[in-house]
Amino acid sequence: MLIKGARAVDPANNRDEIYDIRIKDGVIAETGRSLKAEPEEEVIDASGLTAAPGFIDGHCHFRDPGFEYKEDIFTGAAAAAKGGFTSVICLANTEPPVDNVDTLNYVLEKGRKTGINVYSAACISKGMNGEELTDLDSLKKAGAAVFTDDGKPLADAALTEKAMKWAAENGAVLSFHEEDPHLVGTAGVNDGKVSRALGFTKGAEASAEDCLVARDCALAVRTGARICIQHISSGVSAALVRHAKSMGADVWAEATPHHFSMTEDDVLKHGTLAKMNPPLRTEEDRRAIIEAIADGTIEVIATDHAPHSEKEKAREFAKAPSGIIGLETSFAAGYTYLVKPGHLTLSKLIERMTAGPARLYSLNAGTLSEGAPADIVLIDTEEKWLVTDDFASKSKNSPYIGETLTGKVKMTICGGKVVYDETR
Ligand SMILES: [Zn+2]
Repeated sequence: MLIKGARAVDPANNRDEIYDIRIKDGVIAETGRSLKAEPEEEVIDASGLTAAPGFIDGHCHFRDPGFEYKEDIFTGAAAAAKGGFTSVICLANTEPPVDNVDTLNYVLEKGRKTGINVYSAACISKGMNGEELTDLDSLKKAGAAVFTDDGKPLADAALTEKAMKWAAENGAVLSFHEEDPHLVGTAGVNDGKVSRALGFTKGAEASAEDCLVARDCALAVRTGARICIQHISSGVSAALVRHAKSMGADVWAEATPHHFSMTEDDVLKHGTLAKMNPPLRTEEDRRAIIEAIADGTIEVIATDHAPHSEKEKAREFAKAPSGIIGLETSFAAGYTYLVKPGHLTLSKLIERMTAGPARLYSLNAGTLSEGAPADIVLIDTEEKWLVTDDFASKSKNSPYIGETLTGKVKMTICGGKVVYDETR
């Protein structure tokens, strides 16, 4: 296959220019200007489009096993491909949770049938109860990409330290959902004017996040573990990560598209469709997150794709589950809210969605280098499109429905095979 005429953006190699890409046997065989098609070679005319490495999402929930009415590994992968993703890491808060090798194998085996690269996280603690570590060695050997109890913060500092010591010795990555439950009243809404307007005595304090981020940054400095702070929502937390990095800690951080494109005011507009943990916060926090993405404090954009049924999201605010889907709107939200206003270059946005997560999780992906897996996304960065509920995901819980975004994924290729084609 020969992709001709695209603006190829490959941040890992510092390249951003028009050149052709030849795919053979699932890898990028050759790149260069004006490559000639070989006899019977399929040619894709990509002039006017941008070619980038397939996106990598280090944080999504495919709900399989246990909650397949929300999403399963196949529909999750279809949503990923439609959003331009060729590698995803499914998080471990399934039922049963991925705290054992059998469940991990189930996810990985089903993932291999999807056409994209499906990796899985494993739990740090058994049953995600925060009390006893899982068999980390066996889970790592069986292929867990990262260890996390995402959804449930780890309250016990001693257990967290023990896990970090193990991670440092074994070259594993740990990632953390940071919210101290003692500082959270009603979850999913920032503690402040909006939580008050909704009639809640207390929402989720930004300090709930800041305190645990500070703790885990400190533990990371001491233990040398590689850790990732998930879905940063608070400007103070971003500053804490920046400081920990300056002290030499191997601390990474994620931002989600919703946290850099929306604020607590969107909860008044969208109700439970804007309910997530940690919640949307203030405009000041949003700006601090954008600054942190731009200066490299936050090296990874992750979706936290969290499908829920319409019935669940129709419950009253306090009783509805937290989380929104995000795979199919992620690039467009990044382009619309980061690149168009001039906060980030297109290359930097793509870096945070490809080479950044590839470095964090040591994945053989995220580049257009010759010899690399042919994971490629073709995008029209000019196209404006109205987000509707026409998702490949099983769920439709997105606050972007009704909004016009710029930047549309046209085709996704994984391992040299087309896994999404808008025209088909
Ligand atoms: Zn989380």
